[in-house]
Amino acid sequence: MIPSVNYHLWEPCNMRCKFCFATFQDVKQTVLPKGHLPKEQAIEVVLQLAEIGFEKITFAGGEPTLCPWLPELITTAKEAGMTTMIVTNGSKLTDTFLEANKRTLDWIAVSIDSLNIDTNFSTGRAIAGNTPLTLDYYLSLVDRIKQHGYGLKINTVVSSKNYTEQMNEIIRYSKPKRWKLLQVLPIIGQNDLDIVNFKISDEQFKLFLDNHNDLKDITNIVPESNSQMKGSYAMVDPAGRFYDNRTGKHNYSRPILEIGSRLAIQQVNYDFSKFVQRGGIYDWQIRKNVSDMNFTISGEVASGKSTVGKALAAKLGYSFMSIGEKIREVAAENGMSIVEYQKLCSENPQLDLDFDARFAEDCNKRRQTVFDYRLGFKFVHDSFHVFLKIRNETAKIRLQNADRHNETAETLEERNELFRKQFLTCYDIDYCDERHYDLVVNVEEFSSADEIVNFIINKLNIHRSEN
Ligand code: SF4
Repeated sequence: MIPSVNYHLWEPCNMRCKFCFATFQDVKQTVLPKGHLPKEQAIEVVLQLAEIGFEKITFAGGEPTLCPWLPELITTAKEAGMTTMIVTNGSKLTDTFLEANKRTLDWIAVSIDSLNIDTNFSTGRAIAGNTPLTLDYYLSLVDRIKQHGYGLKINTVVSSKNYTEQMNEIIRYSKPKRWKLLQVLPIIGQNDLDIVNFKISDEQFKLFLDNHNDLKDITNIVPESNSQMKGSYAMVDPAGRFYDNRTGKHNYSRPILEIGSRLAIQQVNYDFSKFVQRGGIYDWQIRKNVSDMNFTISGEVASGKSTVGKALAAKLGYSFMSIGEKIREVAAENGMSIVEYQKLCSENPQLDLDFDARFAEDCNKRRQTVFDYRLGFKFVHDSFHVFLKIRNETAKIRLQNADRHNETAETLEERNELFRKQFLTCYDIDYCDERHYDLVVNVEEFSSADEIVNFIINKLNIHRSEN
């Protein structure tokens, strides 16, 4: 079975691409006047797709970001174990959307056909058909997508209007993980009206590919000719029906919610070998990417370094080491509380220097280890450095509930200040400066250590493949 599915959940779109091969006007006119299912039914479709074994789901449209319940569909898919992606024209990707969905949405595929305003105007790749997005907008968009840690993909439809264009600038700048090049596809019942003005020959498509051949070192270029696109996608329409395009038009199954996904998928015709040949299988499953890299976890008092570090180690089958535990041992050996020992260190910086040197040496001999170590980013090499961020108010509540001797809510600010001063004195380093880290996690956004662990693993792999 093809392991990934495109769910075209939403017919409405705010652009008017004249070559669009997912207009679904036929669906709207025959079975679904609104162009989408109600939220609860759409969620049920997602669950049914997960149940039948799809590993990855791509939410498409129309324009999926116009759908108010898209975040709930993404969360449903993620909780059901699927890798999640959206295909979007990018016009509605606000920072609010990017921030709100970063824990459940793995990939964002942005459709960018041209950087020429006139070209985009002529194809209708423009808001309401008359306001194309600018180069500056696209550049800032890819920045924002990457800053939020999403896997970036770019889709380009190659047509008579852009097959001679050079897209080097945007691809070199954004370095997407995948750049999918789609030969504009005529589909009966979807784009008959205008497609004659956009069609290109296989030679013209090849010319576009040849003109960008040197970008192969920058990104994974995935070309799809018309014949490769037909029959090689598992797709679901806005009415919740599987469909294929093998014969150059849409062939729809009975609705999944009526007969179940297992029966419905038997009513369409997908070609698994074509799916493989067009590069449909790639390393989209984030967890598969984790190697034997070490992790260091830093953060202020009560940010959960130890809990998250242990959970991360357990999930990956790694070892766990905590400098805090080592310091507690040393403090106890000297008959001191941890606060007293910290004060002693801040008055005698050499104590710290010696301790760090020994601990760092030990760390760097290890592989597959999670270190609970505030200065790990400075001393532990070849590691993924994570900082856990928490507000004092929340940290105090945690400490009140934790009943930790000598680490009370009352001493929280004092301890944080001691750590800061200690490292500034010894190393002239502010360990709370987020620029030291590969990933900063605001722990208050998560409801459990497991959620944070999944987020870290997810981000590590995106970070690794981008580097
Ligand atoms: S943005 Fe996408 S869905 Fe909307 S009209 Fe263009 S190709 Fe079709």
